[in-house]
Amino acid sequence: MKDFRAQAEALRDEMVERRRDLHEHPELGFEEVRTAGIVAQELNGLGLEVQTGIGKTGVVGILEGSVDGPTVLVRCDMDALPIQEENDVEYRSQTPGKMHACGHDGHVTIALAVAKMLSARRDELQGRVKFIFQPAEEIGLGAKAMISDGVLLDPAPDVLLGLHLWNELPVGEVSVTPGGMMAGADIFSAFIKGTGAHAALPHRSADPVMTMVQIISALQTMVSRNVSPLDGAVFSITQVHAGHARNVIPELAEFHGTLRNFSPDVRELLVGRAHSIVSGIAAAMGCEGKITFEQQSLPVINDAAVAARLKRGFEQIAPELNIRDDVQTMAAEDVSFFLDAAPGQYFFVGSANKDRGLNYTHHHPRFDFDEEALVIGARLLASAAAEYVLPE
Ligand SMILES: [Zn+2]
Ligand SMILES: [Zn+2]
Repeated sequence: MKDFRAQAEALRDEMVERRRDLHEHPELGFEEVRTAGIVAQELNGLGLEVQTGIGKTGVVGILEGSVDGPTVLVRCDMDALPIQEENDVEYRSQTPGKMHACGHDGHVTIALAVAKMLSARRDELQGRVKFIFQPAEEIGLGAKAMISDGVLLDPAPDVLLGLHLWNELPVGEVSVTPGGMMAGADIFSAFIKGTGAHAALPHRSADPVMTMVQIISALQTMVSRNVSPLDGAVFSITQVHAGHARNVIPELAEFHGTLRNFSPDVRELLVGRAHSIVSGIAAAMGCEGKITFEQQSLPVINDAAVAARLKRGFEQIAPELNIRDDVQTMAAEDVSFFLDAAPGQYFFVGSANKDRGLNYTHHHPRFDFDEEALVIGARLLASAAAEYVLPE
């Protein structure tokens, strides 16, 4: 594998400056106008073929090599979160109530550095690199919006690459996890219709509250008794509503929550069991029950061959880093929609530094990361892309 260490280190100051500027100016999903403007200007300056307004505020830049070859898609996300920053740093958010609390300011910085490093080698490239700057990852809508605007066509990707800075790992650790890496997420809503009555005359009711209690209890056996203990899954009920008065058995009850899993088979199992439990128990209790699921993201599933190739390459060029292959999380990421269309690898670049207090979790108002992770991320992402388009 070609090593872009020297090139990435040469861009350290530029990357830190860019990341801090983006950090000061966070923009929420589909509002990334300033960020997209900076991205488009930079890509234009590097001589890439640039398209803006893909998936509302998304930007695409194509770096065309000198001869034909595969298309590598490099994807990064650009959006911030509706969080009031509590860090007391000179580059803190200048917009009240908005903050780059997930590290996407770093992702934009890294992807632009990769575009710069690879465009310097343009004459040697065999194939092309298609850079995708995606909006609205945090609300799970950006990837879908870009895909429905045709971002996976003309040229279609042969391999997809991307990374997430990850504060669950210290800087210097990287995980190139094969297979399921991040969970697919559904939200669900269940409704139970019974017969309301005076609370003093319970025999006149078909009580949706008691029915709901038994349904919720039975649903908790799905993960513990239906899913293999070796497969990860979460079924969390997070909202429960019924009734408005202390002396009335209500007619309706409802609950809502989220389902997470790493494989389509596990999702199908859980959805099927949930339908049976809700409608079966409701019927047994003289009520009607229904549950509906809305799939927000697919599981992030990396290609085993791409994972093996990149892990081997990273170990070869960067023996000083700890290259793991075992990190998984129940967090969701809509990069999954790109990985569903092309084989590829999404990898975690450790970014925490406990000694410097840079180890708050993602989405925390004091989230911040060790900027050395920018250099590591840019180096590894450029080296990974070069693996497919820059011949030895
Ligand atoms: Zn996030
Ligand atoms: Zn994120």
